[in-house]
Amino acid sequence: MKIEDKIDRLKKEKNAIILVHNYQIPEIQDIADFIGDSLGLSIKATETDADIIIFCGVDFMAQSAKILNPEKTVILPDEKATCPMAAMVDAEGLREIKKNHPDAIVVSYVNTTASVKAESDICCTSTNAVDIVESLKEKEVIFVPDKNLGLYVQRFVNKKMIFWPGLCPTHYEMKASDFMELKKKHPDAKIMVHPECIPEAIDVADYVYSTGGMVRHVSASNDKEFIVGTERGLCYRLKKENPEKEFYPISAICPPMKRITLEKVLKSLENLEPQIRLSKEIIKKARLPLERMIKLKNKNEK
Ligand code: 13P
Ligand code: SF4
Repeated sequence: MKIEDKIDRLKKEKNAIILVHNYQIPEIQDIADFIGDSLGLSIKATETDADIIIFCGVDFMAQSAKILNPEKTVILPDEKATCPMAAMVDAEGLREIKKNHPDAIVVSYVNTTASVKAESDICCTSTNAVDIVESLKEKEVIFVPDKNLGLYVQRFVNKKMIFWPGLCPTHYEMKASDFMELKKKHPDAKIMVHPECIPEAIDVADYVYSTGGMVRHVSASNDKEFIVGTERGLCYRLKKENPEKEFYPISAICPPMKRITLEKVLKSLENLEPQIRLSKEIIKKARLPLERMIKLKNKNEK
């Protein structure tokens, strides 16, 4: 029996769902029950009636699924799939900065650990960061951990933003000159970049989107060629869903995202390990900023 068929059989037997981030390797994208960006995956995690969530992404994403579903078994098939940006801020550091800015509200990007979320007032993703910060009545905002996303948000909001010096090593590497070189080769291509990119790269972009935003934009656009300024795994999904269009990625990969394999997914379904385990206290505190973010999205859609 093919490994994909074994996974499918076990998944049904155990009432499991496979959630997959847009940067996963093609074989994993192909077995997804749901594929999406951080916001889409968090929302999907609140809607499923599966008993087990197999999360093919990185640690903070699987933790969010557990925080929103404490009664479910949440599995990250490789526990070393950890986001280096999320590791750049810890709860102690955040408490320190809060002490120095007692009137500021804390907005944490979902790319944070559960204990940092537990110290935060509201979460955001790259899809909704501008809307979330804009919606707050506070004039001062502590934004952790991605300074580049924070600087992008600052372009649209009239608030005093206090940044944490965090960054995504994958997006940080994408220089404006890389995009311009690709543009020379493909003059009709539109440049899309992720807001985790540095300001100089954002300045040369035609569009700035989360990975989910890029997927939606490409399928709705009449343009036929795109330079893709995010982790190159997204191009597999873009091409699969838009075979008639061309995609030119910057050669950037996120190594932890590539740690999940079909073999590890199968093993995790057999053993129900490695599970995400968080204390009740952390779950209770970290849930509030995540739920506040999700509620705001639902309100905006009404
Ligand atoms: P998205 O929410 O846009 O998928 O981003 C997640 C991420 O980690 C980007 O590096
Ligand atoms: Fe983290 Fe960057 Fe990888 Fe996203 S691409 S998971 S922010 S290291």
